[in-house]
Amino acid sequence: MRCIFCKQDSSTSVSVEHIIPESLGNIDHVLPVGAVCDGCNQYFARKVERQLLESPMFRLLRADMAIPNKRGRIPPWVPTDGTDRPDYRQMGRFLAKVGLEVLAFKTLSVPGWNNELVDQPALEELRRFARYNEGPDWPFTVRSLHPVNAIFSDGNQSFELLHEFDILLTRSSEACLAVSIFGIEMVLNLGCRENDGFRRWLEENNWVSPLYVPRDA
Ligand SMILES: [Zn+2]
Repeated sequence: MRCIFCKQDSSTSVSVEHIIPESLGNIDHVLPVGAVCDGCNQYFARKVERQLLESPMFRLLRADMAIPNKRGRIPPWVPTDGTDRPDYRQMGRFLAKVGLEVLAFKTLSVPGWNNELVDQPALEELRRFARYNEGPDWPFTVRSLHPVNAIFSDGNQSFELLHEFDILLTRSSEACLAVSIFGIEMVLNLGCRENDGFRRWLEENNWVSPLYVPRDA
């Protein structure tokens, strides 16, 4: 097994990579040991995710939803902290990380997925932006899909939606990550730094969320 970010042999790694941080309530969506090596796992936790989790907007959301971190603590937020969003570049790097990991997550059952992903030249720019902070900012779209604490029901069960993700393939064969965290949808093109293909897709699909389209659309 090789790490999908640094491409090094990761057969001695021991950590399990959470696609969305545990501190945002994710316990289910993880990659098998070695998909992301221990070094890259720690790098993203310290250099990318921590900045997002500590930003006023994320602290407010986590406090609102009462989501504890790994140590069981709910982060404090007071009105004077404000609601500033995380830094745009950091958020882009986080989405780039999530995008590559979702591609891995969705192909795990396909033999040879690891080599295919690690050696895929079309993903090189994304990989280098996420892991090595190279190149200009990577644009992504942001919009609200539902209120943060909306209650959904399915039969006699009701639930809150913390996060969802999927890969959208556009007519021009672009692959985009679509993710919703607490009802905020963010979409990032995995192949290059432009959103035109997703914009056209939105126009053709009445501005629905790619997360909520029927599978054959
Ligand atoms: Zn690595």
